[in-house]
Amino acid sequence: MVEIRGVHKSFGSLHVLRGVDLSVRPGEVTVILGPSGSGKSTLLRTVNHLEKADRGSITVGGDFVGYRRKGDKLYELPEREVLRRRTRIGFVFQNFHLFPHLTVLENITEAPVAALGRPRARAAATAHELLDRVGLADKARAYPRQLSGGQQQRVAIARALALEPKLLLFDEPTSALDPELVGEVLDVIKDLADRGTTMIVVTHEIGFAREAADTVVFMDEGRIVEQGPPADVLDRPRHERTRAFLSKVL
Ligand code: ADP
Ligand code: MG
Repeated sequence: MVEIRGVHKSFGSLHVLRGVDLSVRPGEVTVILGPSGSGKSTLLRTVNHLEKADRGSITVGGDFVGYRRKGDKLYELPEREVLRRRTRIGFVFQNFHLFPHLTVLENITEAPVAALGRPRARAAATAHELLDRVGLADKARAYPRQLSGGQQQRVAIARALALEPKLLLFDEPTSALDPELVGEVLDVIKDLADRGTTMIVVTHEIGFAREAADTVVFMDEGRIVEQGPPADVLDRPRHERTRAFLSKVL
């Protein structure tokens, strides 16, 4: 579903991604761990067409991110096509990013109606189903400010799902939440994992990684230091840097 090959990215003189290779199979849950500043968000953003890799290639579902193949040549995609492809990859941010002036229902129906041209009634029916799935069936008419952080994040997940993404990316989805609200959001993400949703989750929640991940990836200084099944990376890390990091977050 996702193939990342030799990806480099710099911001000015700051070399943030230093040759990243990563494959995610359909239905697989990949959890990325790593210290602050190691390039985790930048990597997710390159997958979602929010940053452009300087070198290397990324494909999602066989399509090159940012490029179209014609014969053996790659051509840069027009912005309209980039936007279209981005809508098919769900992205859940640390700070929810809900539209404050729209109701919960409107937050979820906005993109399907505006970007995919879905009839409003059908988009609303889907939104109600998704709200039910994330345990917020009674909040359709509320505004984001009337919800807790955990509820807002569950709305953000429902909003991402409304576009029927082939891939879901989560960037520290529980880092902005009060501790007692973390569990309800992780439960929703675990439920998606059980349903076979392909996802890449950046998080410091080691318990979640242990339970939900097929593959745990440890990143440091723009590189993948090690990756493997949770029992290997979390319980028998091979690299000193992984051990040092885990000893701080566990
Ligand atoms: P992580 O998510 O692992 O904490 P990031 O990918 O956010 O790391 O950032 C990696 C490094 O790149 C950091 O030093 C950060 O300050 C820098 N960085 C990220 N985005 C930008 C940007 N748009 N412009 C300049 N520097 C950036
Ligand atoms: Mg980050």
